[in-house]
Amino acid sequence: MKGFEYLQQELDQMKANGTFRELIPLESKQGSRVTIKGKEVIQLSSNNYLGLTDHPRLKEAALQAIERYGAGTGSVRTIAGTLTMHEQFEHKLAKFKHTEAALVFQSGFTTNQGVLSSMLTDQDVVISDELNHASIIDGIRLTKAGRKIYKHVDMQSLEERLRESESYRTKLIVTDGVFSMDGNIAPLPEIVELAERYGALVMVDDAHASGVLGDNGRGTVNHFGLDGRVHIQVGTLSKAIGVLGGYVATTQTLKDYLIHKGRPFLFSTSHPPAVTAACEAAIDVLLEEPELIDKLWDNTKFFKQGLEQLGFDIGISKTPITPVMIGDESLTHRFSDELFKEGVFAQGIVYPTVQKGQGRVRTIVTAEHSQEALQEALHAFEKAAKTLNIL
Ligand code: PMP
Repeated sequence: MKGFEYLQQELDQMKANGTFRELIPLESKQGSRVTIKGKEVIQLSSNNYLGLTDHPRLKEAALQAIERYGAGTGSVRTIAGTLTMHEQFEHKLAKFKHTEAALVFQSGFTTNQGVLSSMLTDQDVVISDELNHASIIDGIRLTKAGRKIYKHVDMQSLEERLRESESYRTKLIVTDGVFSMDGNIAPLPEIVELAERYGALVMVDDAHASGVLGDNGRGTVNHFGLDGRVHIQVGTLSKAIGVLGGYVATTQTLKDYLIHKGRPFLFSTSHPPAVTAACEAAIDVLLEEPELIDKLWDNTKFFKQGLEQLGFDIGISKTPITPVMIGDESLTHRFSDELFKEGVFAQGIVYPTVQKGQGRVRTIVTAEHSQEALQEALHAFEKAAKTLNIL
């Protein structure tokens, strides 16, 4: 069919410069070992931090919910699609996060978009870390608020932006809790201190910290002992929680406001019963099986140490996200391909997702990996690096 030639041209350009990416389907379920292109490999690219995608309690809860409540809900939340289980889960989440209220959205992406686009007007300003996630950037693009960017985790730069913002009604500082490409943690105590000094609100996107940092995986705010001092905590239910969705844990006022004005909440159908029931079971697992989080951190330490001993540059990570810095874009992809040959699936991440010349193979260990599997992966890293003369 004609009409898309201009798009095809751009795709051809991407193919020519090596940035065109094929989707890589898993032929097995998600887990520490997966089958790709008929080959069993060690999975080091998922966000399934605690291995909950395949946890028996989540699967059982989902199956029972389908039997009792069906496969879908048939409506948006504000018309006929709120089930008692949706509200029950939100109460549980709020209690877990030590906040007044919580509201679930269809995904982490739409949570950021919905919160940012609805709560700010042209009287307000949003001040955002330059490396925040795309969903924060898109949410900001949708507001009429003033927009200011501060240098990555640079508190002097943040303070300058706050000083320039005194005339605005609401000043909202927004940051990722854990940055997804480098695995570093935002300096939240300093951010909160500046916010309190300048009368600003703070919003944290805890996509990579929920289920990972803090008591029982309560996130970055709890990790730093800042409960009650951060106004908006966004999280995802699709990474450590193992299912799908996003949530905002906040005040009753913001929750009520979002129910009326948060467009992705208002105009998109609610989660199927299986999703909500599995998410609820996941919170129970966080509370009752904290050993999973201990295992995640043991594995993280083991793998980071192993990579460092081999001589790899693993950047500034403080979390289970460990980038193996390569630099050159095409070498990064070749290294990832070589790892695959050696039995490891670890995707290369290059410009424009990260800055030019900062290509890296991003690894994420999970609680599900055995130390034998991680040792095997380290051998593969060593072998692939020797083949390509990286070390
Ligand atoms: N925020 C951050 C920091 C993320 O890494 C992601 C997932 N890539 C999201 C938000 C979006 O979450 P979800 O996948 O649930 O839409």
